[in-house]
Amino acid sequence: MAYKSVRGMRDILPDEADYWTGLEATIRDVARRFNYREIRPPLVEHTELFSRGIGAATDVVNKEMYTFPDKKGRSLTLRPEATASVVRSYVEHGMATQDPFQKLFYIGPMFRYEKPQKGRSRQFHQYGVEAIGSLAPSLDVEVISLAWSLMHDLGLGGLSLRLNSIGCAADHERYRDALRAYFAPHIDSMCEDCQRRYDDNPLRILDCKNRTCQPYITDAPGSAEHLCADCADHFTKVKELLDQLGLDYVLDPHLVRGLDYYTRTVFELTSKDLGAQDALLGGGRYDDLVKMIGGPDTPGVGFAGGMERLILVLKEREEQVMERRIDLFLATLGDAGRTLALDLSNGLRQEGLSVDLDYRGRAFRKQMTQANKVSARYLLVLGDDEATAKVGKLKDMDTREEIEVALSAEKIVQLIESLRD
Ligand code: AMP
Repeated sequence: MAYKSVRGMRDILPDEADYWTGLEATIRDVARRFNYREIRPPLVEHTELFSRGIGAATDVVNKEMYTFPDKKGRSLTLRPEATASVVRSYVEHGMATQDPFQKLFYIGPMFRYEKPQKGRSRQFHQYGVEAIGSLAPSLDVEVISLAWSLMHDLGLGGLSLRLNSIGCAADHERYRDALRAYFAPHIDSMCEDCQRRYDDNPLRILDCKNRTCQPYITDAPGSAEHLCADCADHFTKVKELLDQLGLDYVLDPHLVRGLDYYTRTVFELTSKDLGAQDALLGGGRYDDLVKMIGGPDTPGVGFAGGMERLILVLKEREEQVMERRIDLFLATLGDAGRTLALDLSNGLRQEGLSVDLDYRGRAFRKQMTQANKVSARYLLVLGDDEATAKVGKLKDMDTREEIEVALSAEKIVQLIESLRD
């Protein structure tokens, strides 16, 4: 039987991997400019971290987690997102007491048992930032501005930032009551999931994608109408600062996000170039999460973005086609040439050049085909004469010019560097 990868978990093949390394480099560069430091939590956590942190009534915890007992019967889960892990790490390593203000970012795989489709898989990758330790509206705006900067650096257009505030825990209570009162006359006509959500957490009804539920959701009250004075003030300041920086947003009174830990500001960035799964990233404040996970009462704000979706958009833009070249191909004729090529390749690679040669005993003509296939910038032919004289001809594969060179790694590197200047 031929093996296949697990449904919803796919290989990133070498041609596509170049997009990934490029994207990761851009994310790291933007994070550096905003002074966010990288954190790499493990992929596996105690299940309870997510059921408490994300919320037992959410789809992510309820239906989508890869949970299994380890050999001692402890319940473990492949992380479905990273914020809970980052906050766990923040508390566990005493960052909360040593230096409570931390700006962190991460990049890595997440796992959710969802229905695979375009832009949605079971192993997917997220990058995200977490700014922990301040209630300042300017920090919400910094995080949003970082998201915009990344999109700008990636050259993406056709984007829209949806913004809302869902207030503090007390506001959630008031808003839940308002939603229950509003949905009460309709709930029997709505889907089974919504009927469950009505009791568990009616905010989740607003995320329902079921067509029968949409007409009822459209006219539901907005969360921003139920904010206390402090939360309303915070929201006003966030909007003022976004205006001041000229960062575009559209108010969406029904945006609540799918995870329970959010408070106050919530936002989502969508792309018109994606289909049904159009959210590129989503985030917001989580002022109660650190405390919920056992740390001191510390607020936070952040977002997570899906990398597969960004790659989809980047790939659709034809101009992004990446050309991959190596610096030098060593073509060989005979044993002496092959021995010399092995020696030289070793030295040249240590000097930092990308070098390749034939390892399959192929005929000279086939070696030339290979040199073209890897788009070698330069070529050196090494045969008996070259091995004896220790002199060869470096060929520029673009101009077809040939230049004589002494066959030592040092001299070849010097020549190639002088040609590049
Ligand atoms: P969330 O952690 O649910 O707030 O999602 C944040 C972002 O991660 C979304 O906007 C998507 O870009 C991405 N994302 C979430 N779930 C998936 C998935 N199953 N497959 C691919 N990307 C996803």
